[in-house]
Amino acid sequence: MKIKPSVLAIKRKKQGGLLLLAFALWPLGSLGAKAPTPAADLIITNAKVWTVDKSHPTAQAVAILGERIVAVGSNADVGVWHGAKTQTLDAHGKLLLPGFNDAHVHFISGGSQLDYVQLNDAPSTQEFSRRIGDKARSLRPGEWVLGGDWDETKWSPAALPTRETIDSVTSATPVFVSRYDGHMGLANSAALKLAGITRETPDPPGGTIVRDAQGNPTGALKDAAMDYLDKVIPALTSEQRMHAAKRALAHAAALGVTSVQDMNPDYADLAVYTKLREQGELTTRIYGAPLITQVDDQVKMGIRHAFGGPELRIGAVKAYADGSLGSGTAYFFEPFTDQPGNYGLLSELMQPLSLMRERMMAADAAGLQICTHAIGDRGISMILDLYSEIAQAHGAADRRWRIEHAQHMAAKDFARFAQLKVIASVQPYHAIDDGRWAEQRIGHDRASRTYAFRTFLQHGVRLAFGTDWDVAPLNPMLTIYAAVTRATLDGKNPKGWFPEQKLSVAEAIEAYTMGSAYAEFQEQDKGSISVGKLADLVLLSDDILTIEPARIREVKILKTILGGKLTWDSSAAPTGGEPSNR
Ligand SMILES: [Zn+2]
Repeated sequence: MKIKPSVLAIKRKKQGGLLLLAFALWPLGSLGAKAPTPAADLIITNAKVWTVDKSHPTAQAVAILGERIVAVGSNADVGVWHGAKTQTLDAHGKLLLPGFNDAHVHFISGGSQLDYVQLNDAPSTQEFSRRIGDKARSLRPGEWVLGGDWDETKWSPAALPTRETIDSVTSATPVFVSRYDGHMGLANSAALKLAGITRETPDPPGGTIVRDAQGNPTGALKDAAMDYLDKVIPALTSEQRMHAAKRALAHAAALGVTSVQDMNPDYADLAVYTKLREQGELTTRIYGAPLITQVDDQVKMGIRHAFGGPELRIGAVKAYADGSLGSGTAYFFEPFTDQPGNYGLLSELMQPLSLMRERMMAADAAGLQICTHAIGDRGISMILDLYSEIAQAHGAADRRWRIEHAQHMAAKDFARFAQLKVIASVQPYHAIDDGRWAEQRIGHDRASRTYAFRTFLQHGVRLAFGTDWDVAPLNPMLTIYAAVTRATLDGKNPKGWFPEQKLSVAEAIEAYTMGSAYAEFQEQDKGSISVGKLADLVLLSDDILTIEPARIREVKILKTILGGKLTWDSSAAPTGGEPSNR
């Protein structure tokens, strides 16, 4: 007798217990007879299902009951779940994947950013200042021009902008626009004045006030120096925060992102998510990792990793080891190739190191997950040192420590990464973006271990994919395109920048689904199209597994399903409803 794949899947599944086993029996005994009771709510037929479940990688149809998948198999296998009220969705042969799980986003800033001035694609300083001027004129008195994501490497000459560039078009309107990597910002004179920054203001630990030849601040502020501005920028009102969350949720649904892992959310952000969840409007699942400086709060409440429900969880902390490559603040063993004497900067959280150690020890002792931003090889190495001290002090446990970005690896550290079972939470889009200039900044040898996704896999390190939105676009197609082609945005590496580090499309999808689910302790519930898991699914306009890789970035999401409910339908979207590229 031929055993149905759906039944196999049920038997293999560890959790799910009696109820699922009971479901398993009906299809067996009822071929051509009456439907299982209860019948499925939704059946997707004629799909090219790529399950990301290694035991049966492909299928044709999926049945959903409530918010979970109850059958995966051929149209006939799944058809037995059809009942009087079952809705059917004919996929017309399109590719159906598990929903994308973005392991690293800044969700509320992403949502706010959608309303802010857009500077990332400004091709020159003239256009940069024109857009800032236009925005300033559209605001009410007292409002700030924020956001931006500017990138001076797209201009010629590629010089940092200064306050003079924008003062004449903004006058009294304060401006603080960030560089796209979030590690530098430009203030105009009005904003510097509000923040009290003068030539006498010292550089804070972990930050730099960029100065001209006379020692006057140019308006550019790096890393911890940006805190001077953050203190005077009015906080989001609760309506603004709610608005940003709704913008972000709609954007995520349109891009097929069904789960996000929100790095250093404000508590007020979590409060907004809680409210949206209660109203049934949280159309993206969220795992929040508040900043490690607040670790005591979660410790006091006894919250452990992945605490919460399928829609909203907390139980992680986010730490920072260093800055970024683009801002010259990623922390390296050797100086930047183009800046002799500059080794980068350790974050203020690492100064003194004992403070970071204490906080990490406290988090780990409480069962909280630790996610640490580390970009330069020395920053990464120091975090691995700390992780290994914790493991020695507290003994073995399933901790799923993460290093966020893990960009520039020391050769010796790949094996340590694997040994400590640290997850590399990486954002491939940064590779095709930074790949334009990274080699100039750190030289060929270090660049060869940069965004080294293949080397990680070869060492048995688990990858979790994400975007770092709003630092990079939230669109998963751009991330997969980047991981698969490594074709830098300037078109100069069509065959791939360090092509030996390319991944296959299947590997990229896995890192974006199962990989990210594992990184948030949710691999039993998400990450593959398997019986018993949450029905988070996306239907794509094209089969990214077979099309020319260069075309992946144009692929659209036709439908997004979260827990069995449609959250995005491109055919129902109003004209012009296409998601923006960010
Ligand atoms: Zn980030």
